[in-house]
Amino acid sequence: MANPKTSYRGRRVKILATVGPASRSPEMIARLLRAGVDAFRVNMSHGDHATHAETIAHIRAAEKDFGRPVAVLCDLQGPKLRVGTFAEGRARIRHGAHFTLDRDPAPGTEERVCLPHPELFGVLRPGQRLLIDDGKLQLRVVRADADAIVTTAEVGGMISDRKGVNVPDAVVPVPALTEKDRRDLAFALEHHADWIALSFVQRPEDVAEARKLMGNSGTALVAKIEKPAAVDRLEEIIELSDGIMVARGDLGVELNPEEVPPLQKRIVEATRRSGKPVIVATQMLESMIESPAPTRAEVSDVANAVYDGADAVMLSAETASGAWPVEAVTIMDRIGKQVEADPGYAARIHFTDVRPDATTADALAQACANIADTVTLAGIIVFTGSGSTARRVARERPAVPMLVLTPSPRTARRVALLWGAHAVHTREIGSFEEMIAKGKRMALRHGFGAAGSKLVTLAGVPFGVPGSTNLLHVVTLTGQELEKGED
Ligand code: PGA
Ligand code: MN
Repeated sequence: MANPKTSYRGRRVKILATVGPASRSPEMIARLLRAGVDAFRVNMSHGDHATHAETIAHIRAAEKDFGRPVAVLCDLQGPKLRVGTFAEGRARIRHGAHFTLDRDPAPGTEERVCLPHPELFGVLRPGQRLLIDDGKLQLRVVRADADAIVTTAEVGGMISDRKGVNVPDAVVPVPALTEKDRRDLAFALEHHADWIALSFVQRPEDVAEARKLMGNSGTALVAKIEKPAAVDRLEEIIELSDGIMVARGDLGVELNPEEVPPLQKRIVEATRRSGKPVIVATQMLESMIESPAPTRAEVSDVANAVYDGADAVMLSAETASGAWPVEAVTIMDRIGKQVEADPGYAARIHFTDVRPDATTADALAQACANIADTVTLAGIIVFTGSGSTARRVARERPAVPMLVLTPSPRTARRVALLWGAHAVHTREIGSFEEMIAKGKRMALRHGFGAAGSKLVTLAGVPFGVPGSTNLLHVVTLTGQELEKGED
């Protein structure tokens, strides 16, 4: 009999939930896992290292109890630009008035404020925009020199201490990782984060720089696409990353909001072609920060991301600081299952034309998907060390879920963000017979079929040699497999 606690949960799209004050207690983490969370995001923009260390420890304890691998993604703040402070904490900038950003640390007024980012001076050109506080205020540059940027407030309003600044029209010569990011990255690696997310990526070089610092730590990297400059060089950034996030919050500030949906489709498609996981993020169930039920439009938004074939959908404040974290996850889980049960889903998900690479592993991954279309399969069993074979199979978006068996606990956790991957950490296997026996046993135990079910097995011989995927074998369960063998 399958173990209901660790069985496949019947959903291919993954749920990434941000953990925060509303959800970091051991009890809430356990409830969120049961409700459907596959991976947790630790947002390094808030909180200190001691708190994050405790949160990660809670997640690991809950994971052990839960009995399935869970990914931890540490999201670095990145070079977020902010204004200085004001004499009275805030000031009102009038519509049409001039407002100057300068290098004088003196408290700001309604006419000027300090911009504590020397890199920006001499870069901005007349006509370019500065967006303040998620775009609520819009300033247009009239003159910029080494010490002052004079603007006209096209949209004025209240500005207060340390509000964020977006500069959508320029590539800002700031380093990809601030001093704080470097400390946060070291912390994340030390605590064995499975994924790092890099914010405000502008150039492929930004990703390369983070990669260099990460070395071969076994931690994977997600590049957040939230700058127009990153969109311009999307293919190169995907190439250098292990995964991509469509960071719609900042992207929608830097661009017009109506430009985000077509870009979401383009980014999801391009990333899917690479076989790397793509996450759709921000405001997915925003109203659930305060309300136990989502709006129809939000439900539709999550559903459409699932129809697009995204690997994961993300919750931010909904789970980090909202009043209804468990309800938000529950709704997301239900939406994912409902969409995947729609006969139209399979057709839509294949609108994205993915091409296998010219490798044996890709040809076999494609063959698995073809077999699943021809005969009734209960699943695809993938034996993998690095997770690369699992990625190739997921890229095909096969009709049945994937049981990923790996001797690497890090791989088991990392694929928690990968579409359709149900990972199990198992011991190394030494022979073909052992592989078949273990595959069948694990399939039965994890709810992939029953007596009579057929599954495809994908592996590489010799076992344990990276890049050796060369074996496709169809097995039929007898239902008696659990009686022999241990794990
Ligand atoms: P953030 O990133 O929540 O760290 O800002 C996501 C986004 O901008 O959408
Ligand atoms: Mn952002």
